Parts: sequence; structure tokens; C-alpha cells
Amino acid sequence: MDSETRQLLSIYFIPVMAPGHMIPMIDIARQFARLGAKSTIITTSSNASQFSQTIERDRRNGSQISISLVKFPCREAGLPDGCENLSSTTTLEMSMNFMKAIDLLREPVEKLLHEKGNRPDCIVAGAFFSWANDVALRLNIPRLTFYGTGFFPMCVYRSLRDNKPHEKVGSDFEEFVVPGLPDEVRISRRQIPDQLKDGDNYNNNPMAEFVRKVLESELASYGKIVNSFYEMEPAYAEHYKGLDGGRAWHIGPVSLFNKSDEDKACRGKESSCNEYCSSWLDSKKPNSVLYVCFGSMAFFQTPQLHEIAKGLENSGREFVWAVKENAQLDEEFEARIEGRGLIIRGWAPQVQILDHEAVGGFVTHCGWNSLLEGVAAGVPMITWPLSAEQFFNEKLVAEILKTGIPVGAREWTKRTDEREVIKGESIERAVAQLMGGEEEAERMRIRAREFGDLAKMAVQEGGSSDIDLKSLMEELRMFHR
Ligand code: UDP
Repeated sequence: MDSETRQLLSIYFIPVMAPGHMIPMIDIARQFARLGAKSTIITTSSNASQFSQTIERDRRNGSQISISLVKFPCREAGLPDGCENLSSTTTLEMSMNFMKAIDLLREPVEKLLHEKGNRPDCIVAGAFFSWANDVALRLNIPRLTFYGTGFFPMCVYRSLRDNKPHEKVGSDFEEFVVPGLPDEVRISRRQIPDQLKDGDNYNNNPMAEFVRKVLESELASYGKIVNSFYEMEPAYAEHYKGLDGGRAWHIGPVSLFNKSDEDKACRGKESSCNEYCSSWLDSKKPNSVLYVCFGSMAFFQTPQLHEIAKGLENSGREFVWAVKENAQLDEEFEARIEGRGLIIRGWAPQVQILDHEAVGGFVTHCGWNSLLEGVAAGVPMITWPLSAEQFFNEKLVAEILKTGIPVGAREWTKRTDEREVIKGESIERAVAQLMGGEEEAERMRIRAREFGDLAKMAVQEGGSSDIDLKSLMEELRMFHR
């Protein structure tokens, strides 16, 4: 090791192997390296293949960044060979086994961190790696947690967990106020995650024990890196930092660290660089196209896909719709919408699409990354939450930022076959409201644009997120040996 390399702050990133966790963490690792740290990303080879060319490009541009590989314990955890990402699991049992694999990764990761020549000053680990605190403790370095969501949903979650207002209502439909928040946020039991509803009854919900360990380790960690920016949710950033274990740095929106077209197009999947999509959008008028995508994990049954198709077609608007590779759409529908609608099968270059001036609306499942990418692009949204903390996120967009219109999803569920089908008419109505140019829609569009401008300012030099990231790096230098 030359003396220059030895002096750099050396940070090891361990992202949870799921797109919604990996994508922002790669952005963060790259930004640390751009700002002069030495970033090492620990992952498995099939996950690395989604971003290794990007890392190579950064290295050629002078960043000190690399990937260290560990073997994913598929067999040991009861997973089929090659199932190395949460998005490849198809049943609850597989997801549980995936979490087992996450636990089993401790040994190879710890070994790697202790290898001669590796001198980590800090570990930034995804929240699911509840063992990372112990590993950091042994190395006498801090462990930072990357949880992947924002301040508002974290505040809602903490209040529900601590105050249990959902246990005091008479039915699943009855709305109640989430106690102690800066705003009056109302929610019903139908909209909150199972593991919160099931409380301490771990036997009923196998995920609850895993979640408990994750929360414990998150609270005990050195602090949290949050993909958000202060100006979007100032009251919640303050509220959260006042809670027990609330040390946090807001450094986002991290998608904005991707400045070049190549970075934007290849983010998440290097093979997705979609030239056709760009030129298709180039031929459309500003703000005329609706972009529809439900993230990396969600999948819909065919009847729901048909209703979406109906809603989009009847709305008369132009659209880009990202569907899963095997989605069954009506061939006649595809023929009828040719030229007006673009269907992307598989991975869509989301940030590139949202940034295009032709895109004037976003139908989103409210996954935190998607939500923030929509905000950063200054685009108003139609909110369609499904599971995870997405119903909380919908409240932020629709009621606090006031930049979104709910499609009318009412029930949290992971089971796609149990999900209430949202009718084409409801989708058409929401699209007409969002894209129709009425006064309220215009106000929403202006607000969305303002938040987009604030987001861009936050990550610029001297912006709130830039300052927070640099102050975190300064603090970490205290641990540098
Ligand atoms: N994404 C993408 N193309 C797709 C689907 C998803 O680029 O076709 C990206 C999206 O930009 C976001 C991430 O995958 O960064 C999904 O994370 P999110 O938190 O929105 O939802 P999740 O997939 O975790 O449900």
C-alpha cells in the first residue's frame, strides 16, 4: 500500500442484495469515493455484475473504489443456486431463507474485513445485517446503518411501534391519528405492515423476529445514513433526530449523484441502457407522458394488469409502462396503443425516464427510492402503495408535500393474489386529474417542480445534503488510524 492510499478514509459498504437497497448504496459508495474516501463494496458476483462496469468507469476517472466478492450461501440457506437477490425470491419461504443467508454472510464478511491489508475505518451496512454492529465493535470502528427509507416513514413506524394506536381501534377500517408527529397523520390498520399489527406474536409472523433484530441493531448502531434531503421533510428530520437512537445524516437524493447520461441510463442494471426509450421520449411534448412503474419487487396478477391497460388506454394520454418480463398483456391492446404508449418489459432506466422533460407524471408504488426519484425530477405523482412502508410514503406525497393523488389503494398486503383489484376507471380518473391541466393539478405541478429544485440544490456543493455528507466524513476521520 502506498502512503497516499493509506491516508484515505477507508469505508466498507455492505448493501442488502435487493435493488431498492443496492442501487442507493452504490450511489453512496461512489459519492464517498468522489469526495476522496476509499470505498469498498462487499457483495456477491452475480450482484456485482449489475454495476461492475460503472465502478470500473469511476476507477478510470480517478476514484478509489472497488468491489470485494464473497460467496452467497445459497445451498446452506436452502435457496436454489443463483438466487442471490431478494428480487429473485418468489415465495415467503424463499424470502425467509434469503434472510437466513443474510445472517450466514457474517462469517465470510468478517473474515474479509480482518484480512491483511484491509483496514476499514467504518462499515456502512444495510439494516438487514443485524450482525454488523458486533463485527464493527470487534474492529473497534463505527457501524453506520443504511435503512433505505426516509424520515417521515421512520417517524410513523416508530410511533406505531411505541404507542400501538392500532390496538385501540375497533376495526381494520377505522382511521386513527399517529401519535406525536408534527402533523396530524391518519391511517387505518389495513394500511400498516403485518409485523407491526402482529406485535410480539412472533409465532404468527415469522418475519417479526427478524424485524425485531434489525430494529435493535439499527438503534444500537453509530448512526444512520438517510437517503433524503432536509428541505423535503424538515419537521420529520428534526423529530427523528430527537428520538432515541436517532443519530442520522441526510445526504440525498442519492439518485442525483448520477450526472452523466451513461450513469443515469445504467443505474441499477447496466444492460438496461435503453436508447429507444430516450428517442421515443424525445419525440414527445414536454410534460405530456405518464411514466408507470411499480419498482423492482412488486408484481401484479393478470386481471390487475388488464385494468391498468384499460385505464391508461382510456385516459387518452401518452405513457411509458414498465412491466415484468413475463407480464401477460393483451396483444390487441399493444397494437392499439402503438406510438402512444411504450411498454418496457424488464428493467426500465427509471432515473433517465423521470428526468426527461417529456415526462409529466409518475404512477408509483411509493417505494422510497421511486418516491424520492420522482421528487428529485420535479414530477407530480399518482400514488399506489402496496406493501412495506409504502402506505406511509403515500401520506407524505399526497398530504404533506401535496404533490400526488392517491389512486385509491386501501390495503397493505404482500400477497398479490389477495390484493384488491383497482379498476381501470379509478386509474383513468387519477390520470385525468393529474395530467388534465386543471388549476389544482397545475398547483401540484408547480409544487413538485419547486421540490425538484430544492432537491438539486441540496446535493450541490454547499447544499444541505452535501454539508451533512461532508460533516459525516469529517467525523469518521476521528476513527482513522
Ligand atoms: N428501478 C429501475 N427500473 C425498474 C424498476 C426499478 O430503475 O424497472 C429502480 C428505481 O429507480 C429504484 C429502485 O429500482 O431506484 C426500486 O426501489 P424502490 O424503493 O422504489 O422500490 P422497491 O423495488 O424496493 O419496491
